[in-house]
Amino acid sequence: MNCPHNIYIHVPFCMSKCNYCAFYSLACASPDWQKYSDDICGELKFWAKKLGRIKVPTIFFGGGTPSLMPINIFGQIMNCINESFDVDKNCEITLESNPKTLDKSKLSDFVSMGVNRLSIGVQSLNNDELEFLGRRHNVDDALMLLENVQNMGLRVSADFIYGLPNHDVKSVENLCQDINKLGLRHISMYELTIEKHTPFGKMNLKMPTNEEMADMYIAINEHLSLPRYEVSNYAVPDEHCKHNENIWAGDAYIGVGRAAAGRIFMDNVWYDELGGYEKLEKIDNNTRAVEKIITGMRTVRGVLLSEDVVKQINFDWVKNHDDLVVQSDKYLSVSAKGMLVLDNIMLDLIK
Ligand code: SF4
Repeated sequence: MNCPHNIYIHVPFCMSKCNYCAFYSLACASPDWQKYSDDICGELKFWAKKLGRIKVPTIFFGGGTPSLMPINIFGQIMNCINESFDVDKNCEITLESNPKTLDKSKLSDFVSMGVNRLSIGVQSLNNDELEFLGRRHNVDDALMLLENVQNMGLRVSADFIYGLPNHDVKSVENLCQDINKLGLRHISMYELTIEKHTPFGKMNLKMPTNEEMADMYIAINEHLSLPRYEVSNYAVPDEHCKHNENIWAGDAYIGVGRAAAGRIFMDNVWYDELGGYEKLEKIDNNTRAVEKIITGMRTVRGVLLSEDVVKQINFDWVKNHDDLVVQSDKYLSVSAKGMLVLDNIMLDLIK
């Protein structure tokens, strides 16, 4: 029997494109949902045939805007997953959502069909900023959804963006204080990055410098009431996103949908599944170990020093850089200072 695989399902549709968005998503509020569902179920069945009735510890619907999905389409996909695989009793099932797309009744429908964790794209607590970012919702829409979710006792995370053109340490401190009042137990804080082929990429925006961004990143850790557990994620310990943690730790996952990537472990061989299930490429164990280091070092816990990982690490460099990396019995992790220069560390750390 093959090992458990987490499942990521990509829903590539949005009501409109946000000004900063470089993800693969189409501005189309009414796509051919039946065709989408048929394609997704076709892929799921393909994997069930290849891998057998494997265990599924987590399912993550990401996008795009998964909360746009009509509820019967979500039901079809969940039925297909349940028929094809051995879904864990305590499977974490996350749905990414946009506040404008989810009222109380649709939210209850998603929950009744298995969703037990909601990730909400709040992005800002300021209406002018939301408009600038090209978001379709306002602050009240987001707060209303948050309240509904919290009243239902659902696990919830909210995404925010910092480092907008007018942001400085003070504005980020204020944002953190406002977030602290929301009673959240998990949030993600993403730095605004400008990608060429987006509306922002063509606007010649005056962005904060790298040093200013770094100061804001430090301020976030100091002023948020939740502890950081990964480069961009903050949560109380029992609220970490299990799906992401499994993937960062190097567990296997199936990516479903045309823009979804996966890492399949089949008959003791790793495969890169990129851009759909027809394209499978073998990955050798050394490459897979390097991938584990890259994702594991993004977490505060660090990468587990398993035999395959140890072989890829330059321990001479580690010994001379204990201000940047910290080694314990089982894990290698970055220090708070190291978190700021993670990409550079990787270049020296990996043999
Ligand atoms: S909602 Fe998300 S995926 Fe869709 S356009 Fe905005 S940022 Fe991109």
